[in-house]
Amino acid sequence: MKISIDLTLDSAHQLHLEGDSKCNNLHGHRYEIHVEIVDYHEERDIVVNFHEIKKFFDMYDHVFLNDVVPFETTIENMVRHWAGTIKDMFDVSKVTIVGKETENCLAEYTT
Ligand SMILES: [Zn+2]
Repeated sequence: MKISIDLTLDSAHQLHLEGDSKCNNLHGHRYEIHVEIVDYHEERDIVVNFHEIKKFFDMYDHVFLNDVVPFETTIENMVRHWAGTIKDMFDVSKVTIVGKETENCLAEYTT
């Protein structure tokens, strides 16, 4: 069984990239997040309650992401973190997160 959910997060962050990058200034994004969760425990009535997934992402919404996670807040690191955390939290078989930082830039991670 596979479920998916789409949500958006409005958050600020600041990167620490080498060189003269605009991303090193404090700025914000409307992140578009696509979550896919696969579970092979076919006896479950629901894979994960959609409400629980939304609740999980609430801690990343309208915040300064650098205050929430202890690593560089690139979209690559965020999707890896979200996929791993959701997989552990809900004891499911596979999680894919697609995170769109801007209209043209996205990162995808499956664990
Ligand atoms: Zn950014």
